[in-house]
Amino acid sequence: MKKRAIKCIFLLFSIVILAGCKTSGSINSTDLDTNIPIPRPAFEVEKERSNPDRATRISLEQYRGPIIDAHVHLDPPSDGHINDAYLKEILEVVGETGVKTIIFMPTPNEGRRHNHEIGVKQKKKLFELDRQRIGLFCGSNYITYWLHKAFRNGYKKEELNVILKRLSKDLDSNEYMGVGEIGIYHFRKHGNQKVIQYPPNFEPFLRIMKLISEKQMWLDIHAEPVDPNGKSFEEQIFGGIELLYRLNPKLKLILSHTGMTNPLNARRILLKYPNLMMNIKIEKKHQRWRNLEPVVNPEGELYEDWAKLFNEMPERFMIGTDAKFGRKSFKMKKYNKLIKQMRRMLGTLNPDAAKLIAYENAKKRLVNVDF
Ligand SMILES: [Zn+2]
Repeated sequence: MKKRAIKCIFLLFSIVILAGCKTSGSINSTDLDTNIPIPRPAFEVEKERSNPDRATRISLEQYRGPIIDAHVHLDPPSDGHINDAYLKEILEVVGETGVKTIIFMPTPNEGRRHNHEIGVKQKKKLFELDRQRIGLFCGSNYITYWLHKAFRNGYKKEELNVILKRLSKDLDSNEYMGVGEIGIYHFRKHGNQKVIQYPPNFEPFLRIMKLISEKQMWLDIHAEPVDPNGKSFEEQIFGGIELLYRLNPKLKLILSHTGMTNPLNARRILLKYPNLMMNIKIEKKHQRWRNLEPVVNPEGELYEDWAKLFNEMPERFMIGTDAKFGRKSFKMKKYNKLIKQMRRMLGTLNPDAAKLIAYENAKKRLVNVDF
């Protein structure tokens, strides 16, 4: 009788242990500590906003060489039907501009759209139409908004597992050059923009970052260091970058839109993190970019301090127009205009720096196509 009881207890005990192994094994919960604090930024953060009336450079000549546009969007079709004629029109316009490769990625808020998965198919179709001209980044539509919601409402571990599995499959597929545009702090700067906000030490975010780093893929991140009212998130974002590099020293990070910080901080970030790149957007409408440090004044002239940084560290920047194809407010011809502005901006730089920024960096790091 006693023997039987002991046997029973032993059996029960084994079942409990086995069950425990199964749950922890499925999400690797031992890999990362939960609630890792955000460290202090690893450089002295300049918190004064730049004077919008400061010195600029006027371009006398424009850059005429090839361009790789490394940060572009294409909204999912609003009626749910992929329009081949529209995709062909994109290719035509891009061809006219002298852009050799154009890299599409979902916006940080794309996952809010009910038809965001059609957006994935649409971008793949565009890629199939011209594999030389089109590049793709993946993930933001099924990652960013989920992270925002999960931080607020909690999440099931299984949901995170599904995302990690899908991302892993996407990154092994050879169809994508990287992951993006992942939003972490994305505020309402104008109109009806939807907010994305969660801290960089949120555990599911760190797990996703770890996977991207392990796969050695590029990661394009949109992180606004100051909100439109002037509230600073610089400690969270720059401390967050430090945290990402402490956990993933080989992370290949691209900060969207020159980090949306001033050129002094941009320089300090680039000096501190050698694997980090930035892409350059031209935003002339400063009221749409409050506290986010546009690189040009409202006339489109490049600020002298940014020009100096681009000339001094040209191997760390790429072009990223942030064009939004498929959006009603974005007419096809606007793309020609955006590229013209880029060419004028590049024309103010040293010719060698302009070439690196216009296409050589992106060609070496993202695109494996010869042209
Ligand atoms: Zn962005």
